[in-house]
Amino acid sequence: MNNLFRHTYLKINLDNLIHNINEIKNYISKDVTIGTVLKADAYGHGAKEIAKALFENDITYFLVSTLLEGLELKKSNENYNVFIMGHTPDEYLEEIVKNDLISTIFTVDQGIILNDLAKKYKKTIKVHIKIDTGFNRLGMKVNDNTIKNIKEINQLPNIEMEGIFSHLALKNKEFDTIQFNKLKKLINSLKEEEIYFKYNHICDSISTVLYPDFQMDMVRVGAIIYGLESEEKGVLDIKQVMSFHSKFSYIREIKKGESISYGMRWTAKRDSIIGTLPFGYADGYPRNMYQKGYISINKKQAPIVGVICMDQCMVDLTDIENFNKNDEVTIFSDGSNNSISIDDLANLASTNKNDIVSRFTKRVPRIYIKNNEVYNIKNELV
Ligand SMILES: *Cc1c(COP(=O)(O)O)cnc(C)c1O
Repeated sequence: MNNLFRHTYLKINLDNLIHNINEIKNYISKDVTIGTVLKADAYGHGAKEIAKALFENDITYFLVSTLLEGLELKKSNENYNVFIMGHTPDEYLEEIVKNDLISTIFTVDQGIILNDLAKKYKKTIKVHIKIDTGFNRLGMKVNDNTIKNIKEINQLPNIEMEGIFSHLALKNKEFDTIQFNKLKKLINSLKEEEIYFKYNHICDSISTVLYPDFQMDMVRVGAIIYGLESEEKGVLDIKQVMSFHSKFSYIREIKKGESISYGMRWTAKRDSIIGTLPFGYADGYPRNMYQKGYISINKKQAPIVGVICMDQCMVDLTDIENFNKNDEVTIFSDGSNNSISIDDLANLASTNKNDIVSRFTKRVPRIYIKNNEVYNIKNELV
């Protein structure tokens, strides 16, 4: 096992991850496949480690956004089913074929290129057809040519159309239903042409919970497996997987009128005790938490004071009693013990939870907890 080599780390609770998977399993129909979304290094949790933990619990279908993310996972275990949801440029499609990745396509042209490459390697390559039902990001528009185009792709001998999918804008139930119905109608028309897919899918985390009728053959769940969806907490008992911790590098007293950090933008209104913590915005913590953020120490809240630096920040400990300079502090957690939750942190930082967790950089060690014990420490730098 690696050493931490640092007093700032992310704790990744794999027990909570599996708990969340079981909650989802109990909620969806038995014949719905759980596609787990591991893009953005599994939302900052570590894609390889999360994939391994899921695979040990019989989850075998992993979704990523880019070719590189797909290659990382396939390299760690060739038995994973790895589906790239984003667009892969033509010149890199050969890597999809070489590595048996599952590709999104939404043009006949890419189907033909992929088919030629698959022929060259004597393989059959699985694809999912992406349909644009209104999000206007990627996908085939639904029009007079759609069925003809999908039929053309279907006739390519070295391509297996494993799935067809779309993505909801989550505007409101009315618009989401319009999108769902558009996909459903297309799928039904294709059935009449005897074109079937193993996986029809449209749901992400929120829609999986909000619209059980939309689940079809697969759900693509990201945020919810990491315990990040608050809207659904009433329906599913999900637990946050990530928390962020540190320890003081220095504590000192300053006099009333002294200031702190760049621009000296915070000035002590009284004699104060100031602690320095060894984390900053280059670790992934939002820089704009200056003047808004707080950390939790011994269940009490200590405000961040002064501009947050690249590698360090300062907190006001004047009102915190009975702490030891070696105590661990919680930078964020699930809101228990007076910690700031990822939800509140995201609100204060004017962003969303996925953005907060996927920012963490490789400079931050990850401690993995399994069966309530430290199971693994990942330090990407050494
Ligand atoms: C990221 C992504 C998801 C997962 O979204 P969550 O809200 O994290 O569940 C599903 N589908 C697509 C196409 C995505 O890009």
